[in-house]
Amino acid sequence: MSETENRPSNFIRQIIDADLASGKHTGVHTRFPPEPNGYLHIGHAKSICLNFGIAKDYQGQCNLRFDDTNPEKEDINYVKSIQEDVKWLGFQWHGDIRYSSDYFDRLYGYAVELIEKGLAYVDFLNAEQMREYRGTLTAPGKNSPYRDTPVEENLALFEKMKNGEFKEGECSLRAKIDMASSFMCMRDPVIYRVKFAHHHQTGDKWCIYPMYDFTHCISDAIEDITHSLCTLEFQDNRRLYDWVIDNISIEAQPRQYEFSRLNLEYTVMSKRKLNALVEEKLVNGWDDPRMPTIAGFRRRGYTPASIREFCKRIGVTKMDNTVEMGVLEACIREDLNEHAPRAMAVLDPVRVVIENFDEGKVETLTVKNHPNDDAMGSREVPFTREVFIEAEDFREEANKKYKRLVLGKEVRLRGAYVIKAERCEKDAEGNITTIYCTYDPDTLGKNPADGRKVKGVIHWVSASESLDAEVRLYDRLFTVPNPAAAEDFHSVINPESLQVIKGAKVEPSLASAEAEKAYQFERQGYFCLDSKDASTDNLVFNRTVGLRDTWAKIEG
Ligand code: ATP
Ligand code: MG
Repeated sequence: MSETENRPSNFIRQIIDADLASGKHTGVHTRFPPEPNGYLHIGHAKSICLNFGIAKDYQGQCNLRFDDTNPEKEDINYVKSIQEDVKWLGFQWHGDIRYSSDYFDRLYGYAVELIEKGLAYVDFLNAEQMREYRGTLTAPGKNSPYRDTPVEENLALFEKMKNGEFKEGECSLRAKIDMASSFMCMRDPVIYRVKFAHHHQTGDKWCIYPMYDFTHCISDAIEDITHSLCTLEFQDNRRLYDWVIDNISIEAQPRQYEFSRLNLEYTVMSKRKLNALVEEKLVNGWDDPRMPTIAGFRRRGYTPASIREFCKRIGVTKMDNTVEMGVLEACIREDLNEHAPRAMAVLDPVRVVIENFDEGKVETLTVKNHPNDDAMGSREVPFTREVFIEAEDFREEANKKYKRLVLGKEVRLRGAYVIKAERCEKDAEGNITTIYCTYDPDTLGKNPADGRKVKGVIHWVSASESLDAEVRLYDRLFTVPNPAAAEDFHSVINPESLQVIKGAKVEPSLASAEAEKAYQFERQGYFCLDSKDASTDNLVFNRTVGLRDTWAKIEG
């Protein structure tokens, strides 16, 4: 068996195993081919983990190739963000970055070769006529009147196209295949169109651009890609992929294999829709922590390992399905539970006065950063006469199930002493403003000497030593599991996907928190410093994920 315990098995790896065993290939070369027209999302992560993961496990190579044949929709900023995201996920491409546009000269040459072989022609049907001539799934198409233009004439026309002598939409180069094919993509597909657009890599050199189906397979062949992995919507196009490779003079014989896209509940993955969310300012940019983008997850506190683990768990098949958000959240929760240092933050503070603790005294307590991992060390947490606790952690009366602070009863402050609530003060509306307590000085790191049982433990911060912070709580971006199915996705946007808490209090050690590095805020969840909006005197924390899967509860 070539699989190790950690290696996923899937139908693509089985194909590769067979290709290596039969000697069809001696090595594996994959590629990840994003179009630089948006940020990468979690669906791309699936493709990245698959392509780079295979290269790694088989000691092969994986190229990063920008599929840049639509200059109008592309942008150099996307080229940059995509590289960053791939690296952040923990992968390194083989050699230099590739661009399909690197091959524009060669692609042009192959198009000329097809014309010379009588396998391509310049067509002057307009878009509407072309649609009409194409036929339907049930009716065959009919040949364009330009289909039989002599080779010499086609060569001259194609050269004119290249030289900018035709307007956009006036003509195109089409492969001459079969207007009656049951695969629509084989009915003389357009392989070059006129487009007077500035290109982020090639500038103004070209005014004709090759189509994806013509470009992709040739780029794969040029790069000696052995297994070209793409999503299922390209299944039919595989005929065209093979047709092009078979009809041009190129040695390599890459093969395309399709797998199902990742769909994730309560979010959208189409770049068009993600772009609309950004453009219409419905979110704060591509890296808004609510976005399903790699940059969004990173800013939210997700780790590369958690996303790789997620991609491993969902596997690779040909079956269409939608994955629950809970699967992704479980991955980050497990990772952070093990690796995130603990800290204390109070999101909805209420003042506690410990009347028998000296006024003005600051006692420095040493608290472990992780309950089960001594290697993570400890930190100093100041304890003072006044502390803040969570408003919901105090009640005047409560039954036995409520293991927090209750009038006349005791509770432990995490990492500190046992306190007892003596009385409380309220404002005119009846809100509790101050809780007066006493503490037992003999309970630091131990149970009360007389055997009193104190079950509850609550988190707290010193009133005078804590820092102010803004905390951002995120919820699903959409109100329905499949927003892509909504007629207008605007109508299913969750208006409460972001809750901003302004008056939170956090322990002073968090002044040195690093952006995007998550902490477990005791009893609250996992949070990380925001990478954009936080500064030394303005702490802003993003909630990465709660401690438990609350969604399952809502639905269950
Ligand atoms: P869109 O249709 O929104 O423009 P795309 O699939 O065209 O997205 P590309 O940049 O062309 O985006 O994708 C690069 C690679 O990532 C392709 O191989 C594509 O199949 C793969 N990919 C894109 N979305 C997903 C997804 N949801 N699940 C798995 N793979 C995906
Ligand atoms: Mg695409």
